[in-house]
Amino acid sequence: MRVEVATDVAVVGAGPAGLIAAEQLSAAGHSVTVYERMASPARKLLMAGRGGLNLTHSEDWASFLGRYGRTQNPRLLAALEAWPATAMLAWAHGLGIETFTGSSGRVFPKALKASPLLRAWLRRLDAQGVRLAVNHEWRGISPAGGLLFDTPDGPADISAQAVILALGGASWPRLGSNGAWAEILAAEGISIAPFEAANCGITVRWSDHLAQGFAGQPLKRIAVSLDGESLRGEAIITRTGLEGGVIYALAGRTRRLTAMGAPVALTIDLRPDMTTEDLAVRLSAPRGKQSMATFLRKTLNLAPAAVALLREEGPLTSEPHALAWRVKSVRLFATGCAGLERAISTAGGLPFAALDEDFMLRAKPGVFAAGEMLDWDAPTGGYLLQASFATGVAAARGALKWLDGRTIPD
Ligand SMILES: Cc1cc2nc3c(=O)[nH]c(=O)nc-3n(C[C@H](O)[C@H](O)[C@H](O)COP(=O)(O)OP(=O)(O)OC[C@H]3O[C@@H](n4cnc5c(N)ncnc54)[C@H](O)[C@@H]3O)c2cc1C
Repeated sequence: MRVEVATDVAVVGAGPAGLIAAEQLSAAGHSVTVYERMASPARKLLMAGRGGLNLTHSEDWASFLGRYGRTQNPRLLAALEAWPATAMLAWAHGLGIETFTGSSGRVFPKALKASPLLRAWLRRLDAQGVRLAVNHEWRGISPAGGLLFDTPDGPADISAQAVILALGGASWPRLGSNGAWAEILAAEGISIAPFEAANCGITVRWSDHLAQGFAGQPLKRIAVSLDGESLRGEAIITRTGLEGGVIYALAGRTRRLTAMGAPVALTIDLRPDMTTEDLAVRLSAPRGKQSMATFLRKTLNLAPAAVALLREEGPLTSEPHALAWRVKSVRLFATGCAGLERAISTAGGLPFAALDEDFMLRAKPGVFAAGEMLDWDAPTGGYLLQASFATGVAAARGALKWLDGRTIPD
């Protein structure tokens, strides 16, 4: 076993929460090493970039804070107050990343991907002297309080004056955050709230035709209704159901309803911008020799995936009013929520009760925690990254206070 005294601070987990903590502490003059189990940092951030990288949201601040509804924890809210959306934007702009606000109020980098931001960030961290040790998997705590790692050179016992755990949740484990840390902390007597998939897809029993022919295809500008709530947005057909923004927003309710043991009915309006009457007028045009799919594409601008979805309920009628009604009320039955493997985020994790007001583990003085591993939950819309950054900053500020009684100015 290699025994090492690390730099002042050991950050475990090179996602957004860990990297921003490393940035803050190194900027304050501390030597910092970031340990990461994967071969490269921030894989989930890069994956988030595939969807455009929704950095934060521009809505008024009271509404913004309300998004963390289930976990209106005072420490989380204080962390967000200290690192609000404006701080996130100033930080991104400081890295040379231009941003824009979409019509929904969501804020994205102009490049609509994460790689330029991550490259600029890693350059800054490197210039500040932050060391990045990849392929280092945290496995536990030694009797003397050191961090036990599996490394390419064998096991290592690494100690530091302060430790920041930023190990992520348990969704998309192939990107690095596998939630294995929960057992390590449980073995230390810290109780962990069970992980749950949040912002996840729903499962639907499709026909083979839809599952095989249309998986990956979007259903744009639809409205989805469930149990009296109706939301507009976009969904994507998967082999096992649906995912995408509008579905994630209804996933919690779907989970609660399907947990009672029976599938729940969702209704999809494929043209929420038009009334049934307007659609019927258009559908009264002569169809001639056109196939139904071509006719629906030309008259209602319905994509082939939308037509395939319409057909899930059986053959289509040519009668304009009945067909128009069908377009506005496709019924499908959700059997549950997709698992953690493809959920956008994780609910559950390390409870705030296990932390003091400086994000330090009450049971482990000098060890701080941040990011999605904490038990908070929020919808998509930039709120997940915002809270990961904000808690990373809060943990760094706590660690700075622990190390030398200093505070980082807001
Ligand atoms: C497909 C997808 C799209 C998303 N899009 C958005 C979006 O547009 N906007 C938004 O706000 N949020 C988005 N999110 C969520 C967002 O990416 C996460 O909330 C955020 O990355 C969490 O940051 P984190 O640093 O807490 O954890 P992570 O990013 O998960 O980082 C944790 C790091 O710790 C490492 N680690 C874990 N265990 C160990 C160990 N034992 N030893 C060493 N290292 C370890 C992991 O490998 C990982 O690199 C998206 C998520 C997904 C999956």
